[in-house]
Amino acid sequence: MTDKTNPAFTEAADWDLETRLVRGGTQRSEFGETAEALFLTSGYVYESADSAEARFNGEEDGYMYSRYGNPTVQMFEDRMALLEDAETCFATASGMAAVWAALICQLKTGDHVVAARALFGSCHHILTKIFPKFGIEATLIDGTDIGQWSAAIKPNTKVFFFETPSNPTLEIIDIPAVVEIAHKAGARVVIDNVFSTPILQQPIRLGADVSVYSGTKHIDGQGRTLGGAVLCSNEFRKDYLEPFMRHTGGCLSPFNAWVLLKGLETLDLRVQRQCENARKIAEFLEAHDKIEKVIYPGLPSHPQHAIAARQMSNFGTLVSFDVKGGKEAAFTLLNNLEIVDISNNLGDTKSLITHPYTTTHRAMEEADRAALGIGQGLVRISAGIESASDLIGDLDRALGSI
Ligand SMILES: *Cc1c(COP(=O)(O)O)cnc(C)c1O
Repeated sequence: MTDKTNPAFTEAADWDLETRLVRGGTQRSEFGETAEALFLTSGYVYESADSAEARFNGEEDGYMYSRYGNPTVQMFEDRMALLEDAETCFATASGMAAVWAALICQLKTGDHVVAARALFGSCHHILTKIFPKFGIEATLIDGTDIGQWSAAIKPNTKVFFFETPSNPTLEIIDIPAVVEIAHKAGARVVIDNVFSTPILQQPIRLGADVSVYSGTKHIDGQGRTLGGAVLCSNEFRKDYLEPFMRHTGGCLSPFNAWVLLKGLETLDLRVQRQCENARKIAEFLEAHDKIEKVIYPGLPSHPQHAIAARQMSNFGTLVSFDVKGGKEAAFTLLNNLEIVDISNNLGDTKSLITHPYTTTHRAMEEADRAALGIGQGLVRISAGIESASDLIGDLDRALGSI
């Protein structure tokens, strides 16, 4: 139901990002509540049978069933769309529901997808394990090598898919360059923008067709709820996304939408602080003698530092690094931390650390892990909003026990 004739959009057109995050999409009820109203309802009643008929025919505006739309979910969708100046947004039950819907709604047997190899584990599973069952072929490439995108195109290529920065090796892919190649070949570009957040990078503004989020990560950012969102054009929504989402049921619950709306209000503040903490952690680790290598797009040592500086407004909230001494040293580090928690989640106000080789990427083939640089000493830290000096002190103490 989102569209630009919606008052939520026209009113916000002149607002900066910070204002959109707090006020975008808000629709007050007749009670004038300050906070967004929580409409915990599955269905809606009609004034008359004629009105029900008109709504089902699309001749009358209004809600019909919360799998199709709900006022609280709508506020979240409108606020999300505004963050990238996207025409529309469809909220989903989780980030994976968003990735799955964004891809499968436009694909059919015989189609071909080109994707960067450096992908979130479940996205990798969809491309390599689920797609083949439906006769959809995926070619995985090194997304940082622009020539590989053109070389992978086939007559049946329909979609380019990637994340940037990628998980967990924080590779940066040049969005405008890849978009140009895709559009020349008549393919759409779907970007998983979870690691960047809509604060640091806006794929739709950079030319992508679809931008996908896990609301679970920075958008909630406080470890409470799952959620997701697909941002796209009205045309893509009408032709592909909405028919798929309305009938397959991966919708967002109104309660979770309400939590995510409150999360968006502080997203910019949290992400800016997290970026600052991530940079300080990266600089500390880069100078530490127990560390082999630090990967952070904000460090001049990062191979795609210049691209990150061009397409992102800051360098992200995650830092990955290789500890000298492999798995044993990495585990000693994790087990000796007192503040930073061991968790595969990310984007949280609490700093979280994970060992991808034995958790998020354990199911990946060894050759694929090697190609991505996911070794036994690799550790990924998601910077929270705690004091940077406490975090660095914690890391320093734990590194000392290796
Ligand atoms: C977490 C994550 C997802 C999936 O989101 P969920 O909300 O956990 O389903 C997809 N892509 C990336 C890059 C993620 O970090």
